[in-house]
Amino acid sequence: MRLLLLSDIHGNLEALEACLNAAPEHDGVANLGDVVGYGASPNQVIEIVRSMNPISVRGNHDRCCCGLEDTTDFNPVAAEAVEWTRRELTAINLDWLRALPSGPLCDKRWKDVQFVHGSPLDEDEYITSEFSADAALESSPFHLTFFGHTHVQGAFARRGLRTAALEGDPLRSTTGAHISHLRLDPTLKYLVNPGSIGQPRDYDRRAAFALYDSTKHEVRFYRVPYDIARAQERILQAGLPKILAFRLEEGR
Ligand code: ZN
Repeated sequence: MRLLLLSDIHGNLEALEACLNAAPEHDGVANLGDVVGYGASPNQVIEIVRSMNPISVRGNHDRCCCGLEDTTDFNPVAAEAVEWTRRELTAINLDWLRALPSGPLCDKRWKDVQFVHGSPLDEDEYITSEFSADAALESSPFHLTFFGHTHVQGAFARRGLRTAALEGDPLRSTTGAHISHLRLDPTLKYLVNPGSIGQPRDYDRRAAFALYDSTKHEVRFYRVPYDIARAQERILQAGLPKILAFRLEEGR
């Protein structure tokens, strides 16, 4: 069984379409939060995600953009994007966002797996280091925790009392996508971040997603080029802060 892992789309339609075009066949979809905020296509992106009927958890931008929370904790640029997004969203899409659950979430089709936005300990926590990953893995009874929020693709594993960051091994690809592959040891606990589709922050501007194969015990990480110029143009046309356009080409 194969699960498509999408996270931090952030209203970037061009990036989402490129990822879905590059995605291999799958049996289910998981959305790890922050569907909107920053990008210029919040309604279109929500409609595509909704149509895939994914397992979904909410992100911090999702909460703010639908008015569940104010933007006190956001920097001024992120807050401006939240206000813009809230004005743009249709009533149906606002309702969809408001109904998204916080993690951790499980799904009976995917055994020994949990889904979160930030961390299983706190939906807003950033797992950026072996230290923060270790606390999350220690608390988790699950083989696999899929998370987002940091916009950095990668994984952590706990072996004995030690947690280490992992990278996938590059695979040869016949498409334009860059693919790397991580074999999972069924006896270990992992945290896996598919990376951000709409605003990567690991100095790789290509959109990121992942595919989990429960039969083969592996995760494949994808990086996909997309029409960044078009996404930037639409951010500027919308009157969103210019920095949100510029950062897309730097991948940070
Ligand atoms: Zn995000």
